[in-house]
Amino acid sequence: MSVGRIVRVGPDHRAVEHGLALPRSFFHEDLNLTGAVVDATFVVSKPPLLDVLRDRRVPFVVDPESLRFASDAYRDVQRLAALPYAPEHPIDASTSADDLRHFVLGALELQHQVSASAYVVPAVPLENNGDDLTLNRRLVRAACDIVGVDVDRRPVIVPVAPATRVLDDPTPIARMVSDLPVDQVHVQPLRFRPTELSVGSLQRYCDYLFAIRSAGLSVSAGRVGAFGLVLLALGIDAFDSGLTTAEAFDLNSSIRAAKRRRHDKAEGEESDPGGRRRRYYLTQLKTTVMQPVMGVIDRPALRHRFTTSLPCCAAGFGSHVEHGREHCLFARSSEAAELLGTTPKFRPVVLAQQLAEGRDHAAVLSRALNKAKVVTPSFEHLERWRRLLLDRTTRAKAA
Ligand SMILES: [Zn+2]
Repeated sequence: MSVGRIVRVGPDHRAVEHGLALPRSFFHEDLNLTGAVVDATFVVSKPPLLDVLRDRRVPFVVDPESLRFASDAYRDVQRLAALPYAPEHPIDASTSADDLRHFVLGALELQHQVSASAYVVPAVPLENNGDDLTLNRRLVRAACDIVGVDVDRRPVIVPVAPATRVLDDPTPIARMVSDLPVDQVHVQPLRFRPTELSVGSLQRYCDYLFAIRSAGLSVSAGRVGAFGLVLLALGIDAFDSGLTTAEAFDLNSSIRAAKRRRHDKAEGEESDPGGRRRRYYLTQLKTTVMQPVMGVIDRPALRHRFTTSLPCCAAGFGSHVEHGREHCLFARSSEAAELLGTTPKFRPVVLAQQLAEGRDHAAVLSRALNKAKVVTPSFEHLERWRRLLLDRTTRAKAA
């Protein structure tokens, strides 16, 4: 199973294909992907990307996108309703054992057919530690009965998608997974915006991850953006992030957006061909910014603070604008690799130092943005993440 930074691939898959397929002299050489999560709705189209990943020996798993099957909202999204294992009725506490098995089997068969490196159990949202926990346990049990019998044996990953209030009490989930023959737990809160959360909320989230990890299981964190670096530094095994919406996840708003799109046009690649909503990842600030901010950065006085030696930036700073996704892919992969190349006990110190430097760059940039009358994004996450890192490492030393 993958460790480090794992890329999520969905409708924005082109960047990964480009990144992996571009001539060696330009993009290719330094892109060393440790793993990929590919959306099931994309996998069913048998994309060439899967062959590329297999050829390059990049381990990948399939996200069964099952969180969407807990309510009937999936019926509004054609690509979800068309999945071979889409249930006739939403999966809930009243779903019969036969229907549940049928659903799980379908999801695992698809993953088996495409030679995924591990199976991802189709889980449903964990809104509470009562009925929802029971339902998720039934799904995992069904998967464990299928693996090794109906599909050949591979590692099993259990996704856990807690509501914010469930994060307060990790004991029930930790107990549940420690009882089951599974290999990794993937935690994806239903609503999560690491750049906006307070230190206290981030602490609760970390406590949840580490409670599961202390049950002896490997833990990966879903859709955390650059916050994944903080998690790696603290000892979490892996994290995944996308190329565009990497820093936030909100299941309900993505369902609402899908409903809105239903009457507009097919969901897909470039929903904004003008690129106005495109985001660019800045390693120094550990966040993405929009085009107007990039316009201010791309001036002689500031540019030097934000240039990188990544192969995707070889064409000059302006190439960010054309290759935003490739840049994000390269930057995140190399940041994670660099951090993991450091001795474990020094990782928090190294990252805290980078975050402190980021704070200084942010202060200079904010002044320039004010002067240029461009709306200044908040860069406060840099200080919050640094405090979290230092708090937790001090606490760990005291314990
Ligand atoms: Zn670049």
